Amino acid sequence: MSYVGPDFDPPQPRRSRRRALTVALAALLPGALLGWVLYEAVGDPGDGDASGTAAGRPSATTPTISGTSDDKPPGPTPATDSTAAGPLQGKVVVIDPGHNPNNFQHTSEINRKVNIGTNWKECDTTGTSTNDGYTEAEFTLDVAHRLRTLLRKQGATVKFTQDGDRSWGPCIDERAEIGNKAHADAVVSLHADGAGAGQRGFHVILPAKVNAGAANTGPIVTPSRDLGERIAGSFVRATGSAPSNYVGDGTGLVTREDLGGLNLSTVPKVFIECGNMRDSKDAALLTSGAWRQKAARGISEGIVSFLRG
Ligand code: ZN
Repeated sequence: MSYVGPDFDPPQPRRSRRRALTVALAALLPGALLGWVLYEAVGDPGDGDASGTAAGRPSATTPTISGTSDDKPPGPTPATDSTAAGPLQGKVVVIDPGHNPNNFQHTSEINRKVNIGTNWKECDTTGTSTNDGYTEAEFTLDVAHRLRTLLRKQGATVKFTQDGDRSWGPCIDERAEIGNKAHADAVVSLHADGAGAGQRGFHVILPAKVNAGAANTGPIVTPSRDLGERIAGSFVRATGSAPSNYVGDGTGLVTREDLGGLNLSTVPKVFIECGNMRDSKDAALLTSGAWRQKAARGISEGIVSFLRG
């Protein structure tokens, strides 16, 4: 939790808005993500997102990380902020930390069904956990904080769907709505999977083309795939993790039409399952602060690449 990597120095105040600075920063950013060749993924049977139940009692405290001097204490509403000047100035990124540490205390509320266009689905789920009880909800908030810090350093305005400051939820339809109302340029929903032991690796979930009820993903399918491919490529580079060995045919990409958070989005959005909490080797990574920092950096670089075009 105390890891401070070479790319994770406290942000330096940048007040200049000179275009020259923007260009200089842009020139320094990696552009090799397009080398990551990915194939069309088919739908998958796995779902760590909707089937998780917490094995351990989650901590009610909000996770904190050191070395993040621009992290704000959680407030009563999702925080929005923009700090440094940089290539993402004027861009809005919504981070959706999957689940909520307090969901397990509110099963009746989160089990209420909401319409996701193609189906009715639970408002939210508890998420999964490692066999030792490190919960997915703790993991997603920790990575979200690290990711927010990195994106702010690039000048982005960052908003959370929740920051462990709610008693439950939000529901998946509200999570989508938060991104929509923010007119986000990119939304990433953070997760870790709950598959079987031996099933390892990450995958990025892309919205399928859906036009049913309130869901119409037609306009976001292509940009979301672009976002997802870039995140997958940079995630491999930053973490050294391999794409999932159990979904996505080795591409690290899966397309799904059963996730409300994607179906109801009107802005480019992907999910990322950073690893499998139920596999001991993946769990060793997911519980490492140093690894989570790498994961956040990989996701951040993918977003930056997408938003810079
Ligand atoms: Zn999840």
